[in-house]
Amino acid sequence: MLLYHAIGDGPWAIQTHCFAKQIGLLHGAAAIVPLSDLIARSAPTGVALSITFDDGYAYLRDNALPILADFGLTAAACLNIGEMGDHERRRSREECGYYPGEQFLTWRDVENLVTAGGRIGSHGVGHVDLTVASAETRRNELSISKQTIEERTGAVCDMFAYTWGRNNGRLREAVRRSGYGYALAGGHSTINHRCDRFAIPRMNVAKEYTLDDLTAIVRGDWDYLG
Ligand SMILES: [Zn+2]
Repeated sequence: MLLYHAIGDGPWAIQTHCFAKQIGLLHGAAAIVPLSDLIARSAPTGVALSITFDDGYAYLRDNALPILADFGLTAAACLNIGEMGDHERRRSREECGYYPGEQFLTWRDVENLVTAGGRIGSHGVGHVDLTVASAETRRNELSISKQTIEERTGAVCDMFAYTWGRNNGRLREAVRRSGYGYALAGGHSTINHRCDRFAIPRMNVAKEYTLDDLTAIVRGDWDYLG
């Protein structure tokens, strides 16, 4: 499973034309399937992968969505609902651990993602490391974000993405008790039968990765834990 953040001109973002080349390469090298298929292991045989986005930056809608649509693909996005306005795109704050120079999606933008077949998960209300938060904060971050996404999208929100991938047993249990079906972490590993469904690994695609790097990822060369 691949994790992207920002696509566009931001200082940490993957440039749009590079993203287009990456999706072209991935589309040719692997079956790109919805997250639910990958997790349910109903994916076709051979290499299968899913594309996810964290934080909810606006260029997901403006730049990434049209490219994905050109290939007939969709992606899953895990949003920080505390950063999202109804109509006005709010600026990202680097001091909260977000990518600098970005804007967040609005709920109107999210409607577009959902209409295009995108899946919406939670990344919390704010961008909080829930492994060190109080029990009350943990509960609120998990339940308020889930409830808000479900009200706004009309769909069940059963996916949670940990801030910076950080999780521990207590947090995984809280995610499960909050009604989520699975949770996404970090780590250069593929998904296999040994995976904890509340700590599903994702490989972060960094700005500096080349097409050769992506090819190596698809081949499993970077599956350091597998
Ligand atoms: Zn994040």
